[in-house]
Amino acid sequence: MLDSPWRADFPGILALAGEGQTYLDSAATAQKPQVVLDALLGYYSGGAANVHRAQHLPGERATRAFEASRLAAAHWLNAASSDEIIFTRGSTESLNLLAYSLEETFSAGDEIVISALEHHANLLPWQQLARRKALKLVVLPLDPLGAVDLHQAATLIGPRTRLLAVSQLSNVLGRWQPVRELLALARAHGALTVIDGAQGAVHGRHDMQAMGCDFYVCSSHKLYGPDGVGVLYGRRAALAQLRHWQFGGEMVQQADYHSASFRPAPLGFEAGTPPIAGVIALGATLDYLGGLDAAAVSGHEAALHLKLLAGLAARDGIQLLGTPHVALASFTVDGLHSSDLAHLLSEQGIAVRAGHHCAMPLMNSLGLSGAIRVSLGLYNDGADLERFFSALDKSLELLR
Ligand code: PLP
Repeated sequence: MLDSPWRADFPGILALAGEGQTYLDSAATAQKPQVVLDALLGYYSGGAANVHRAQHLPGERATRAFEASRLAAAHWLNAASSDEIIFTRGSTESLNLLAYSLEETFSAGDEIVISALEHHANLLPWQQLARRKALKLVVLPLDPLGAVDLHQAATLIGPRTRLLAVSQLSNVLGRWQPVRELLALARAHGALTVIDGAQGAVHGRHDMQAMGCDFYVCSSHKLYGPDGVGVLYGRRAALAQLRHWQFGGEMVQQADYHSASFRPAPLGFEAGTPPIAGVIALGATLDYLGGLDAAAVSGHEAALHLKLLAGLAARDGIQLLGTPHVALASFTVDGLHSSDLAHLLSEQGIAVRAGHHCAMPLMNSLGLSGAIRVSLGLYNDGADLERFFSALDKSLELLR
């Protein structure tokens, strides 16, 4: 029941299963399909070369493959041009890039608006920018289901708002956020907009031109691709507002000892040698994902999610956090510490996430020191959940 037709494509999930490990932590990082491993190995075993600099054949080949991934990412996100795709080392680096590169556009008293559920990656860069420039960080509250409260957002996003940065999908609550409405509110006040798609990009294709944000960030490793690679999409006009932030090879146009001029995006924001193998393998990841039946994937994940939610609801004393839309559930158990529970689960080979999920302010606002999060990938199956529930029952029996 609930077999995954894609499981055999993922050697990592099979290797872990062989070790007695049930991997239920895909929102932290996902396992990789064989084609991604092949692409990584293919680049190295075929002869590594740096990109964008050498005239030789290996360099040309690497550059072609690297730029093909940029095109694939642009196509994946329906960007207007591949020049709107900057490769970074992850969502965290993309958000830090934005916070530093936009710094000069802010004046004291300007407001940056985030939401109460942000991952630290989409909180701390803005918080620290606000401290450097004496800006006000405005935090949008949530409704009881775990989405940004639009009534309050309409009063908090105003003429002093210079930038809105919100998550598309919460990594703790698993709930899609009302991004379209929030973007409309921000645009009405002429604010720049940033969407943290680190989780959202994993669950469905998103069309940048239709969404209309200025910037969108995501991480390859959560999207079944290699780690060390992030994508920063920027609308052409928005990219033109960025100041260069990291300096070195490749991003420069002209340099003498005392001054330099820099390339525009994307290369102007990719200083130094990029993660070449990873970017090439991200292209292979997108090819793989693009070849899947998207409706079948989301149907499979939805069926697993129902089973997960039903199993949690059937057990006494389990409190679900929010109302998740995607195959993820964070929960606490009355009277128990989530770290004790996580310890017993991991002793039984169940790999779930426990703790504050890099969203300490959200957890504090919920009055929690931690929670357990189960997050599923397209390779999980019904048997994974059965193992989880049997380990959960055993743990609850021991702890109670
Ligand atoms: N934003 C959200 C919503 C996340 O879930 C994560 C990672 O968990 C990040 C940002 C940061 O991503 P990365 O660690 O890949 O930079």
